[in-house]
Amino acid sequence: MANIGLFGGSFNPVHMGHLILAEIARTEAKLDQMLFVPAKEPPHKIMRRLAPAEDRLRMTELAVEDNDYFQISEIELKREGPSYTLLTVRELRDRLETGDNLFLVVGADSVHEMPDWWHAKELVREIPIIALRRPGYPMGNLEKVRAEFGDEAVEQIQELAVETPLLQISSTDIRKRIRTGRTIRYLVPDKVRAFILENQLYKEAEI
Ligand code: ATP
Repeated sequence: MANIGLFGGSFNPVHMGHLILAEIARTEAKLDQMLFVPAKEPPHKIMRRLAPAEDRLRMTELAVEDNDYFQISEIELKREGPSYTLLTVRELRDRLETGDNLFLVVGADSVHEMPDWWHAKELVREIPIIALRRPGYPMGNLEKVRAEFGDEAVEQIQELAVETPLLQISSTDIRKRIRTGRTIRYLVPDKVRAFILENQLYKEAEI
């Protein structure tokens, strides 16, 4: 019986912030495994220039390979159509061993956006949420979340929320740094940096 965290993202590219947050969430929430799930076409980022899926996957593999608790699922890359979280959760759950528990790990900002997600009510009913709370950025009163999902859901989110350090690292900033010839050393794992350089990723202007 294992507790498994599902950590989705575009990982375009994966960075030290992702790894730090995933490790903290894993230990604080006592998860046995953190599953990184690279998204194919994140529904809310459809206009953004994404590196090819196989490159984002490879970078994520390189980033997690020295942590035995970190694994990757290609489930969203292999599925046709947009990467709706509810579909991912259902598909992953079908593959779990009996007794395994799945938890959805989301940034605190994303919690507020959840009411707009595809079939969000079902999602919240079907999987416990682990919100990553940033210091200085309280999750607020979660009124929209409460109105949409009810008191019980808000209580669950507050109960399982994990305090994380404030990390000003983002894939957007990393891509911009690459485009403008600035360093990304220590912002991404060394192997990821080498992969980006070798494959000349993120050099072109974004659309
Ligand atoms: P982008 O800059 O392209 O939007 P990102 O750095 O936010 O990307 P994603 O792959 O979208 O990376 O992130 C996956 C998850 O990790 C999201 O839930 C996002 O909110 C969270 N996340 C990423 N970076 C941070 C950070 N520095 N602090 C807190 N949460 C983060």
